[in-house]
Amino acid sequence: MGNEVLVKEKESRKTSAIVKIAIAEGDGIGPEIMKATLKVLKAAGAQIETETMSIGEQVYLAGNSAGIEKSAWDVISRNKIILKAPITTPQGKGYKSLNVTLRKSLGLFANIRPVSALHPYVKTNFPKMDVVVVRENEEDLYAGIEHQQTEDVVQCLKLISRPGCEKIVRYAFEYAKAYGRKKVTCMVKDNIMKLTDGLFHSVFKEIAKEYPEIKSESQIIDIGSAKLAASPENYDVIVTSNLYGDIISDIVAEIGGSVGMAGSANIGTNVAMFEAIHGSAPDIAGQKIANPSGLLNAATMMLAHIGQADVADKIKNAWLTTIEDGYHTADIYQENTSAQLVNTDEFANEIIARLGKNPINLSGSNMSKGSGTITIPEYQRKASKKELVGVDVFIDWQDKDPQWIGTELSKIKAHNLKLKMITNRGVKVFPNGLEETYCTDHWRCRFVAVDANIKRAIPTYENVEFEQVVALLSKLHQKGFQVIKTENLYEFDGKRSFSLGQGE
Ligand code: NAD
Repeated sequence: MGNEVLVKEKESRKTSAIVKIAIAEGDGIGPEIMKATLKVLKAAGAQIETETMSIGEQVYLAGNSAGIEKSAWDVISRNKIILKAPITTPQGKGYKSLNVTLRKSLGLFANIRPVSALHPYVKTNFPKMDVVVVRENEEDLYAGIEHQQTEDVVQCLKLISRPGCEKIVRYAFEYAKAYGRKKVTCMVKDNIMKLTDGLFHSVFKEIAKEYPEIKSESQIIDIGSAKLAASPENYDVIVTSNLYGDIISDIVAEIGGSVGMAGSANIGTNVAMFEAIHGSAPDIAGQKIANPSGLLNAATMMLAHIGQADVADKIKNAWLTTIEDGYHTADIYQENTSAQLVNTDEFANEIIARLGKNPINLSGSNMSKGSGTITIPEYQRKASKKELVGVDVFIDWQDKDPQWIGTELSKIKAHNLKLKMITNRGVKVFPNGLEETYCTDHWRCRFVAVDANIKRAIPTYENVEFEQVVALLSKLHQKGFQVIKTENLYEFDGKRSFSLGQGE
């Protein structure tokens, strides 16, 4: 492992250096909650210098389909830290999600969403929950690589990389260490996706060994999310891939009773972006009644990130005390528990009046607790022996008879490449398929140079030259088969590195 520090957090909490921040005021309630948030930050003594950039609805409507212009990219590259209010994505086709653009372009690989209950001041069924979801932010099905391949079948590629897994899993453990948390739970579906989710899981197990002081556990995402929704108090830090993380972070925010109050961080190597999890709330925009807590919580995460965790704790404790004292905006106001209904600006003033105070019943903020820095070592690529042992050829064929296509393809031989099996939507249909299996027009035909005479429990594969694959494709084309794509079959260090067909 190299020692390069890629991400630093809370590097020097006592630093007095002023940190430059790019501000996006956003749309709808954005400017109102940003004004309130910055007012609190200033009163608390946050050492920041802001530069405002214009992104979002107006930029979209001016004809920029990405919602961001070069001038804003320049502000980001000058400042590196972004505090962003929600933006409105105009309805209609052609507008790209600005959030996805920012995350991917800036390499913001980790999405961190902490949610803790504020019972009884904010309604929740889970008074003790205090969960942080660490979601991988760049890969998985969200790579956005999709194709229609036949009349009946479309596909989306799920890409999981070892460096991607290492970065996010290590970030989760480092986060737990830096913030004094006790347990990291990994959520995967590797009983089904043995290679992709299997890689995430094995990286988790490898890296967990380096943090013996932090408890680690793994759960299958389906039962894991069910347990999370039923007993969130049993979870501490959860690390997972992009899609699962997207879903469970919303579950966590919802059951915490605080969708309008949660903040999130998007962390990258050089840039980090902090925002509320809610949208621009156009229904209440301009009324000055929005709750600024989501953005304020995001801002406290930002302060901890830039080495001002003591200021973050001061703000968070004043905020918790304000909630405890019953000064509530309309979204969380309850007749029985609230003392006074306040608007956005009044809420900010109540927080400022409580700077220096700590909550009595709610747990106080502890962002300055823990070990300090988050470091992610540079990825070290391992060299392994990669050998081609066959090819999966995908064919568009509309007849539904697997026996016919199997028999025809069995007659084709390119050097020593021979048909081994055919699957339809992953289920083996030739040889010896079941009549009941439903077949689409999308046939995966596996060709390998396996020696059928060798009777072994584990199939062994012979090496294949790429020219053999080319020759096979040419023969298939000549015989009138419509090849829609191929996937080469490899062994890495002699280990089969592709899944078997169901029933193979
Ligand atoms: P929303 O989160 O804006 O609003 C949902 C409901 O919650 C509304 O009733 C709203 O009034 C309320 N609400 C949200 N934040 C609140 C706050 N701080 N205080 C009080 N009430 C609050 O979700 P939506 O209506 O689905 O989306 C509106 C717009 O926001 C859309 O254009 C969407 O694309 C965008 N959006 C942006 C982001 C972002 O920039 N990160 C995230 C989500 C949605």
